[in-house]
Amino acid sequence: MKHHLKKLLRRCVAWTFGATGLRALFRSGRRGVPVLMFHNVGYPTETDYLPDHMKISEAKLSKLLRRLKRAGYRTLTVSQMVAELARGQIPGDAIALTFDDGYRDNHDVLLPILEKHGAVATVYVQTGPMKGQLNWLHHYFWVLHRIGPHELGGKLAGRIEKQHLAADLRSLPADAVEGEYQLKRLLKYEVRPEDRDLMLAAVFEELGGDDAALAAEVYLDPEACRALDQAGIEVGAHTVNHLVLSSLDAKHQRREIEGSLRDLESWLGHDIPAFAFPYGRTWDYDEHTLEILDELGFESSVTAMPGLNVPATSRLELLRFAVNQESDMAELMCEVDGVFDWFERRGLNLSVG
Ligand SMILES: [Zn+2]
Repeated sequence: MKHHLKKLLRRCVAWTFGATGLRALFRSGRRGVPVLMFHNVGYPTETDYLPDHMKISEAKLSKLLRRLKRAGYRTLTVSQMVAELARGQIPGDAIALTFDDGYRDNHDVLLPILEKHGAVATVYVQTGPMKGQLNWLHHYFWVLHRIGPHELGGKLAGRIEKQHLAADLRSLPADAVEGEYQLKRLLKYEVRPEDRDLMLAAVFEELGGDDAALAAEVYLDPEACRALDQAGIEVGAHTVNHLVLSSLDAKHQRREIEGSLRDLESWLGHDIPAFAFPYGRTWDYDEHTLEILDELGFESSVTAMPGLNVPATSRLELLRFAVNQESDMAELMCEVDGVFDWFERRGLNLSVG
């Protein structure tokens, strides 16, 4: 089905079932637990440079928590959800909230909101920035916010040796959104990671960027992480440097995963059973990743693929619905209540994830 037609149908279904109250009927027959995926909360000026699809306002998140509570939902951490699913239960009143990457606002802004609503969540942190180390993606968003995809593409083209990549970088689509999409794709999957890292670090520095200062402004530190942990918020691992794991050999993957695990164990003083794949699409990790997670004793791992989690869902490839400021609340509640899943099981796939 065409994407825009699917979107329109989703909207119609959400409106029909939401406005009439019929949505609630689906909940009792829901066959799995939804996990929602967020990143930044609030709009602190320090994270202005991060893309909009990673942000949600305090007001919108609070509204969502109120609606969930009114609908009778209780929040679980991912580990609590996995434990309930392992007992063969499908808790019809449960939902898990997750926040990726370890932004400082998860402590400063999110924690008070969760406490106010009596909610819990799992926060997945990359530990490199917590030690002052930034990587290409941090540099990328910061630089992109300042000079846009076309100027950045030109600057990178001037630094790269491979001529066909230089040509691609110079001829990004004119549309800013499409240009940004292509640029990120080239950097994630086409340019050699070592070259990409060096080039972006050089542009970042050229524009006056400072790793340690940016890391301290934007990311959690071990102390803030401990405060989350002590408040009952689960802290999970999300690698050290947030790389595409499938692009690394098994040894390097292990370093990334185990590094973040050991950092968190030493900061929090207990086992860390939860992990989230960087980027989280099925092609961003591979069989080595799953083996390593199992060997290291992780009890769960979350992807960024949409869907409800049923007892048969692999605990190392759990599904999540992405949420941001643009998310339609009626559609989201239909997703949570299992309305779209109900249609999917009857042959009408309305998933847009
Ligand atoms: Zn991430």
